[in-house]
Amino acid sequence: MTTIHDVIIIGSGPAGYTAAIYAARANLKPVIFESALESGGALMNTTEVENYPGFPEGIDGPELMASMRAQAERFGAVLISDDVTSVQLDGEVKIVRDSDDVEYHAKAVILAMGSAYRKLGLADEERLSGRGVSWCATCDGAFFRDKPIAVIGGGDSAMEEATFLSRFGTKVVVVHRRDELRASKIMAERAKRDPKIEFAWNSAVDSINGENSVSSLTLRNTVDGTHSDVEVNGVFIAIGHEPRSELVKDQVHTDAEGYVLVEGRTTATNLPGVFACGDLVDHSYRQAVTAAGSGCSAALDAERYLMDLE
Ligand code: FAD
Repeated sequence: MTTIHDVIIIGSGPAGYTAAIYAARANLKPVIFESALESGGALMNTTEVENYPGFPEGIDGPELMASMRAQAERFGAVLISDDVTSVQLDGEVKIVRDSDDVEYHAKAVILAMGSAYRKLGLADEERLSGRGVSWCATCDGAFFRDKPIAVIGGGDSAMEEATFLSRFGTKVVVVHRRDELRASKIMAERAKRDPKIEFAWNSAVDSINGENSVSSLTLRNTVDGTHSDVEVNGVFIAIGHEPRSELVKDQVHTDAEGYVLVEGRTTATNLPGVFACGDLVDHSYRQAVTAAGSGCSAALDAERYLMDLE
């Protein structure tokens, strides 16, 4: 006979593990798909997390995620180190398939697949990630107090990052491929008025340089092809995010950028019994603590949904 689980959770970042902790403590015996190669989520790529409450000295990203995982397991969450490769979410019983096409069934599904930061695709970007290269000013800005910083991008989030970073850095150089910004007028004007922000127009990053940490960028002029070096210690890449909604985007409603849409302050999607949380739904905050908070909400929403089914 097929087992019908109460809840299946897809994704193992702060959102997925927190949903698992809450669902497990509510005795729902959640099954959580962690991914085969990338379990633990985005924080596995960072060394120091200084803004997750409860750790006054900071904590390593992988250590924080290992603790969340252990906490979920302690209360009986079933952890599966595999990727979900397809889902069927519209019926009363949801179907989730793993990479061997084995089917799992559940009354409720929590989507917590996170989002990926868009990368420049440069050779040294990965190597210097966490050593000067960052995708999150809120997370890492404070490490660059009194140092020169670059922000790559020309949209609203690049302007927001640059304006935020100008309170730390000696200067912030915004590197943009074109000679005008994509950002909204208000955001662009705010950045242009900031005396610490400079613009490198018509410029693309050719390389990020530094032995153990970032020391400079080599820029290529997109009009005349000339090269120049800019000395910076922090490089914040703000060229967009890609929510990992590919798996579900034909079934649950998403916005134009691919973020899963939820109803009001809840985590309910358009499909009954399907909930979504974390960076997969979040345009604005994208922090570990907000992802964890919405993972908690998703578990509580799922629990209430299951109670109403009885
Ligand atoms: P994620 O952490 O992205 O986790 C999603 C998980 O789901 C991934 O493991 C993914 O592999 C898995 N998954 C996706 N699809 C499937 C599938 N089909 N099947 C199974 N699994 C799947 N935030 C802070 O608050 N403080 C910081 O200092 C900080 N530093 C950061 C540093 C870096 C380098 C990065 C990249 C991010 C940082 N952030 C920080 C942001 C924070 O990591 C994210 O906001 C948070 O991890 C989002 O949590 P999430 O659970 O929504 O998604």
